Amino acid sequence: MSDCIFCKILEGTIPAEKAYEDDLVLAFHDINPQAPFHVLIIPKKHIESVGTLTPEDDGALCRMFEVAGKLARELGIDRDGYRVVSNVGVFGQQSVPHLHLHLIGGRQMKWPPG
Ligand code: 5GP
Ligand code: ZN
Repeated sequence: MSDCIFCKILEGTIPAEKAYEDDLVLAFHDINPQAPFHVLIIPKKHIESVGTLTPEDDGALCRMFEVAGKLARELGIDRDGYRVVSNVGVFGQQSVPHLHLHLIGGRQMKWPPG
């Protein structure tokens, strides 16, 4: 998608601090971190959100969660715990319409979220 910020990061036209990359996914540090550790994990295929996933996306989705766990271990936040979340649409406060997992850790989270 030509006007998608995350597709531009995938193309390399917008810089990002990469944390992980493979054939299906890219992970990079959030530009506006909400915790000591805040990484975004995205599929290389442009998928708008959880709401538009199809069975052909199973591999990428599974990899996104695997990478969240792997990065959490590497960042050393797995012992204390962390949050993996995906916002959808207006009420979910999704601001970038390219599917992403937020991996957020390094501080105590609250529930319910705001
Ligand atoms: P959402 O609001 O859609 O759930 O999350 C989008 C996230 O993308 C936000 O946390 C925001 O800070 C982050 N973000 C937006 N633009 C950029 C960018 O150009 N680079 C990086 N690294 N993160 C971005
Ligand atoms: Zn995109």
